[in-house]
Amino acid sequence: MIAACGQIPVAKPLLGEQEVEAVRRVILSGWVTQGPEVAAFEKEFADYVGAAHACAVSSCTTALHLALSCVGVGVGDEVITASHSFIATANAIRYCGAMPVFVDIEAGGYNIDPDRIEAAITPRTKAILCVHQLGLPCDLRRVVNVGKRYSIPVIEDAACAAGSEILWYGQWQRIGKPHGDIACFSFHPRKVVTTGDGGMLTTSSEEYDRKLRLWRQHGMSVPDTIRHGAKQVIYEDYPEFGYNYRMTDFQAAIGREQLKRLPELIARRREIAQKYTWHLSRLAGLRTPAEPSWTRSNWQSYCVVLPDRFDQRETMQALLDRGISTRRGVMNIHLEKAYSGSGTYRAATTLTRSVAAQRTSVILPLFAQMTDAELAHITGELSSILGSADPAASRTV
Ligand SMILES: *Cc1c(COP(=O)(O)O)cnc(C)c1O
Repeated sequence: MIAACGQIPVAKPLLGEQEVEAVRRVILSGWVTQGPEVAAFEKEFADYVGAAHACAVSSCTTALHLALSCVGVGVGDEVITASHSFIATANAIRYCGAMPVFVDIEAGGYNIDPDRIEAAITPRTKAILCVHQLGLPCDLRRVVNVGKRYSIPVIEDAACAAGSEILWYGQWQRIGKPHGDIACFSFHPRKVVTTGDGGMLTTSSEEYDRKLRLWRQHGMSVPDTIRHGAKQVIYEDYPEFGYNYRMTDFQAAIGREQLKRLPELIARRREIAQKYTWHLSRLAGLRTPAEPSWTRSNWQSYCVVLPDRFDQRETMQALLDRGISTRRGVMNIHLEKAYSGSGTYRAATTLTRSVAAQRTSVILPLFAQMTDAELAHITGELSSILGSADPAASRTV
């Protein structure tokens, strides 16, 4: 069985001939940076998530930087977020010269605890940056309500959440409508769809969208696509300070193909997640991921919490020895050396749940091409490592 499966990776992007053809089309078109493919990808992505505007950029990290700048976050301001996230979440706040203010996660999950946001607000708070961790939507209704009550904009770090859904006042809606002011997505290969690197911002605000488009391209008044096609000489100017955060047409062309695959990819990921839960929920002390009734995860990751008596590193090594790659659960930003200097962050609450989650959780392999045999191998080996004979593990899934 192990030999047949080889080493099972923790994630694997699904790219094929369609993406190859898309890039071929771009190469032969002669227009390779932000151009018609980016415009088409934006339109298709906006339609998919139900957003009025979508703006493509080079990564989710640059998307977060632009989103925070757009709502006015600047030097000396504070932004409330979770430490239990990928480091880019807080780095983007520091790009603005602002300070990340960390709030602990909720019990039994990996997302910010909405009950503890209010107490973290100060006169300096300029935004709430919530994260849909591992693809599972956070409790947006409550986060957005706190933001509304204090007139504080809400930015969604939806890096992992393309295609995830939330029940919004009786209606299922995709993450990125957006429900906050701006949502930011990633197309890094560890996410459900990829462009190699890449990001997308969605918003309902025409004014925000205009700023984002300006700032991603050096603050340039006339995009090069327009100058290229013009019959008259046009001089551009630079009314605002900007960046080069563009997505290329190569990436966008791949993104358009990935977007076509997304519903199918999520359906398969959901099926794998359900099978995992069916097998693993009977293992004593192991906590399988929760999916509240008002959410539909895209299952970007399947993260379990080990029983108390099991060491994370030893369990991960035992799995690796059996041909199964895993990753530790989500990191805690405040524990990294880059955040050890004074003034790099403020903890508004204890972060004990965040710290415990990092120490005890393990991400299991999950990718659309994963076979049922691989799944059975993983659940069987994990059962044997955790020492409880699971009769179901030897059954075919
Ligand atoms: C992946 C990730 C990012 C960064 O995305 P990039 O596109 O690689 O910049 C930010 N936040 C979270 C929560 C992520 O998982």
